[in-house]
Amino acid sequence: MRLDRAVTRRVLILLAVALAGGARLAAEEKTADLHHTVRRGQTLYSIARAYGVSLQRIVQANGIKNPSRIRAGSRLVIPDVTHPVATPPITRGRPMRPLPASLADGLPWPADGVVVSQFASPRRDHQHQGVDIKVPEGTPVHAVADGVVTMAAESYGSYGRLVMIRHDGAVTSYYGHNVKNLVFVGQRVEAGEPVALAGHSGNASCDHVHFEVHVKGVPIDPMRVLGRKGKTSTVASQP
Ligand SMILES: [Zn+2]
Repeated sequence: MRLDRAVTRRVLILLAVALAGGARLAAEEKTADLHHTVRRGQTLYSIARAYGVSLQRIVQANGIKNPSRIRAGSRLVIPDVTHPVATPPITRGRPMRPLPASLADGLPWPADGVVVSQFASPRRDHQHQGVDIKVPEGTPVHAVADGVVTMAAESYGSYGRLVMIRHDGAVTSYYGHNVKNLVFVGQRVEAGEPVALAGHSGNASCDHVHFEVHVKGVPIDPMRVLGRKGKTSTVASQP
């Protein structure tokens, strides 16, 4: 089919207008990379949330190896900011809490293994609340201190089979993804007592102990208190 010259011309003009419009739109929507200097007490998570950018994007854009170790004063690229942020409305992150006396001497490891995922590492919509210690299925999981079992659930969301133990000093420990719980609610346990057998129940891609330590209901990095006594472990690089 042969196009009339005038028609061709009109089509070309329309195309040019459309392209120019597209380019202008693209320019308007183009997102600027901002920079943010980390202040004391801020976490990557709080920064990501304040700018409306995913934690993963910030981690990628800055080549961050360990998202839980962000130093005050670090300058971060904040990619894909879609709205102008005049004053970054950063919610104050949690400052490092002083440890209660009951944790001053550290805790023994709940199981001997390699840490394959660290505290505060990014998950789809939150930060990891504990550490993952890789062990074979059926490995005994030990209470890290004397206490009382406050939960022994067969299925607790992504945790799968979960044991929770309350200790002195408003400290609680969590042991998740078990293949079997060995204790019941209300039971008194001693440090080192097996409370579960490790597995991959719940949301787990391999057999491991998901271990959390909470102080007054707030999760702390278990690595702050593990390893000073008892078993030793190698920390693997971030997977
Ligand atoms: Zn975990």
